[in-house]
Amino acid sequence: MALKAASIKRAKPQKGKKNGCIWKVSGPNPGELDEPQVIPMYKTTKERRLDEIQRWMDENLPPSGTPEWEALCTGCGKCCYDKVWEGDRLLLLTSACPYLEVETNRCRVYPERFEIEPMCLPIGPEIIEMGGLPEDCPYVENFPGYRGPKVVNKSLDEV
Ligand code: SF4
Ligand code: SF4
Repeated sequence: MALKAASIKRAKPQKGKKNGCIWKVSGPNPGELDEPQVIPMYKTTKERRLDEIQRWMDENLPPSGTPEWEALCTGCGKCCYDKVWEGDRLLLLTSACPYLEVETNRCRVYPERFEIEPMCLPIGPEIIEMGGLPEDCPYVENFPGYRGPKVVNKSLDEV
C-alpha cells in the first residue's frame, strides 16, 4: 500500500528508541492495514554518511559507468593493491590483486571482475567512506576532507 506524505506524522520519541527516529502513520484502524502501522525510518550514522557521499558524487562526478566516468580513471592501478585495516585506517600494501597485470596496471578480468573477485568493490560511497582509494585518485581528489589509505612498504604476507 502506498502512503501519502501528508498521512505520516512524526511520533514522540520513545524511551529506549533512537531519538526522533520512529514515524507513526495515521489512517485506518489496525487490522485494516496490510502493513505495520509504526515504521522505523531512522538511518544509522554510516547510512547517513553514505547518503552524503552519494550526493557529493551526484553533484561532482559524471554518472557512473558513462564514458566520462570511465575517462576519469588514470589507470594507475593503485586501487587494485591489497589493503588491510590498521585501527580505523586502511594500509595500502605493495602486493596486488592476482587479477592485476602489474606491468600494465590492467585488470585481466575487468568485465566480470565483481563476479570473479568478491573483494573487488565498485567505486561508490562504500569504498570512499572506508578510504579505499588513493588520495590522488580523480574520483576522490576533490572530496572534502578525504583521507585515503596509508602507503606502507609491506606486502600482504608481511603484515
Ligand atoms: S586509483 Fe583511481 S585512477 Fe587509479 S586505477 Fe584506481 S580508480 Fe583508476
Ligand atoms: S579484480 Fe578488481 S581489484 Fe582485482 S585487478 Fe581487477 S579491478 Fe583490480
